Amino acid sequence: MQDIISAKNIINQIPEKDRDKVESIELEVGEFSEIKAQELKKAIEDLVGWNVIINKINPKTKCECGYIGKINLKQKDKHLLVHHCPSCGSRHKYIIGEDIKVKNIVYF
Ligand SMILES: [Zn+2]
Repeated sequence: MQDIISAKNIINQIPEKDRDKVESIELEVGEFSEIKAQELKKAIEDLVGWNVIINKINPKTKCECGYIGKINLKQKDKHLLVHHCPSCGSRHKYIIGEDIKVKNIVYF
């Protein structure tokens, strides 16, 4: 079900009047997204028939202490990813679903 909801969220980012003119859409999907990229692609293709190009991205974190780097996961549950900064140890939370972005849209 989550893949359908995410697919609709992405489709809703395109103005309704333009949706018939979309040839392909390019998405960035975070490595830790709960949505499997292939399921999302299929859901969008089933709903609107657009070609879907998936770019998997490796999320980085930026901490208040100045650390910028890869995310090192310590804990995962259904809704949150919790990351402890390797430099200062503070906790950051990532909400799953926010890490899917529309990168590019190609119209006919
Ligand atoms: Zn830090």
